[in-house]
Parts: sequence; C-alpha cells; structure tokens
Amino acid sequence: MTKVHLSLTEAHELAMKCLFANGCDNKNATAIADRMIQAEGDLCHSHGLFRLPWYCKALKSGRANGKAQPRVEQLAPAVIRVDGDGGFAPLGQAIAHQPLVDCARQNGIASLALVNMFHIAAMWPEVEKLAMDGLCAFAFTASYPYVAPAGGIKPLYGTNPMGFAWPRKDKPPLVFDQASSSMARGEIEICARDGLLVPDTAGIGPNGEPSTDPNVILQGAQLGFGGYKGASLALMVELLAGAMIGEFLSIESLQDDDGKGGPPKGGELMIAMDPARHGDPDRFLLHGETLFEAILAQEGTRLPGSRRFENRSKTVETGINIPSSLHQSIIELL
Ligand code: NDP
Repeated sequence: MTKVHLSLTEAHELAMKCLFANGCDNKNATAIADRMIQAEGDLCHSHGLFRLPWYCKALKSGRANGKAQPRVEQLAPAVIRVDGDGGFAPLGQAIAHQPLVDCARQNGIASLALVNMFHIAAMWPEVEKLAMDGLCAFAFTASYPYVAPAGGIKPLYGTNPMGFAWPRKDKPPLVFDQASSSMARGEIEICARDGLLVPDTAGIGPNGEPSTDPNVILQGAQLGFGGYKGASLALMVELLAGAMIGEFLSIESLQDDDGKGGPPKGGELMIAMDPARHGDPDRFLLHGETLFEAILAQEGTRLPGSRRFENRSKTVETGINIPSSLHQSIIELL
C-alpha cells in the first residue's frame, strides 16, 4: 500500500481545510481536527483522518451541525449535562472539561452527560485530560448495533468502549480504553480495507457461522470480548450512555441515521472522581505507584496507555504516514 507522509501540522491543516469545505465553522473544525490529529499522533489511526470522509458525509447530508454551539447545564449538584447542538463530539467535550473538573473537586465526584452529538470516538482523550488535572475518570459510549448479545447472532449492542484514567505524579496518567467487543469496528474496517484476516473471536457471519474474513463479519455480527462477559459490559454501557442520560441506544441510533450512512448520533457518560477526597489524600498517588511497580517488575508487562505515549513522543518529530487512497479521498472533498 502506498502512503503519503505528513507532519502533524500538515495533517491538521488538511483536516481543517476539509472541514471548512464541508460546512464547519472555525470552532467546530478546530475541535474536530485537534482530536483527529491527536489520535493520528498516538498512532490510533481508526480515530484519525480515516474518519474524515465519514464526518463529511454527515455534514453534507445536513444531519450533523458544523456550526454547533454546545450548551452546559447543571442538572444536580454533582451532575452536568452538555447538549452538543447536533455537532460532532469534540467541541462539546472541550467545553465540558473545566465544569466537570470544578464540579468533581467541589463534590469529590461528578458525572457528565454529553448528549445530542455525533460520534463520540475514543474514550482516552477525555479521561486522560481529567487525570492530567489530578482526577480519576471513567467514560462510556454506545454507537451503532454491531455486537450480538450473548447466545444471539444479530447485531444489537454497539462495540461500546469504556475508558479509565488514574493520575500519576510527574508521569503521563495510567489510561486504558477498550471496546467491549473483541475488536473495535474501525480496526475490522481497516483490516477489510487492507485485505487482512481477523481473529476468529472477532465475530460471526450473517447466519452465525464462524469467520475470520472481516468483510463477512461486517455483514454479520461482532462478538463481545470474553464471550458473555464482554456482552454484559456492552449492555451496561447501553444503559449508562443511552437509557440513563436520555440518549439513543445503539439500535435507536441506527434507526435515526435511516440509511444515510454517517457516524452515530448519541451520548457519552463520564464520571470524574477526586482521589484526594476519598480517604487517603496524602498517599493515593504513591500507593498507585506501588501497584504499577509490581506490574512492571514482571517481564513482558507494560502499562496500558504506554504505547500511545511512546508513539506521541515520536510522531511530533517523524510525522505520520496515511494511505494514499485516504489522502486522495480527502483531497476530493476539498
Ligand atoms: P485495544 O484492544 O487496542 O487496547 C485496549 C487497551 O488495552 C488500551 O488501553 C491499550 O493500551 C491496552 N493494552 C493493549 N495491549 C496491552 C498490553 N499488552 N498490556 C497492557 N495494556 C495493553 O483497544 P480496542 O481495540 O478495544 O479499542 C480501540 C479504540 O477504539 C479505543 O480508543 C476505543 O475507545 C475505541 N472505540 C470506540 C468506539 C465508539 O463507538 N466510539 C467503539 C469501540 C472502540 P495502549 O493504548 O497503550 O495500547
């Protein structure tokens, strides 16, 4: 596969141009481009420029609001809601950050319901940012129905990711962010694009038959990781990021799209906790390090999140390579 090399600045400029050309204002384009290039910089390509043509589809069809003005509302002393005004998630998430930090510090814990926005992509950017502010954080979102319930063969749950972050002193936070499916949808789509097979745990064909062909699985259903255990986590996420905050379940989000083929509209639930207000303010950071040291003392281990932080430190200098086909499809959108 031929590739096009871009510095992170060039990649950001390309995303901005494309978003402007498809109807975004400066605030929305900047928030989206920042988030995509952050993902590219960490080499999480499935949440980077790969998504740009998909986003433009939703802008062109008029489903997504490229000039969204998200609004912050206090629902209860420790509960905030941000209405994304039908735009893409990054602007609403950026606006929500400081109110959530302040609310968590004030109450010891706070939750944030992000609603009425398109494509809550990866969970790590938000939870990582909260941990950089000294908080422990969780994030959950649903998407489109891709994953069969345990024992079933029809897609029902999203690949419903969950993110967790823990602050560390003078070090990047501990962050994990994982789908409740065996593989993220974007990763399967990338394997299909690149002609690669996927593990047999990733999903099943339309009649429930086992398959390692990503194209067959994309027509059938994905599977939860660890069988019924992952499926139960996906179920939990539907309730937290759908039913509880008055947003779409994955099946409802697909109905709302009505065949237009853009990214899912929905919500995200985030919880931020101030560890300094949970009973061990002087020791929690060092105590966490005791665990991390014990993990890393075992050969073959690493901390979740460390791959991204290493990639980030390199791509600032080296830039990134994207498939020529993707570069061409972005150029055609300008
Ligand atoms: P992965 O399986 O690639 O990784 C999951 C987590 O495990 C990461 O935090 C990763 O850290 C960590 N990890 C991986 N290998 C190791 C290891 N050997 N030791 C310790 N930790 C490890 O992620 P997924 O494929 O499940 O998800 C990919 C992304 O897709 C996520 O950002 C997720 O939010 C997103 N997603 C979004 C959806 C949506 O609807 N918006 C749906 C599903 C997924 P590291 O990053 O350092 O590798």
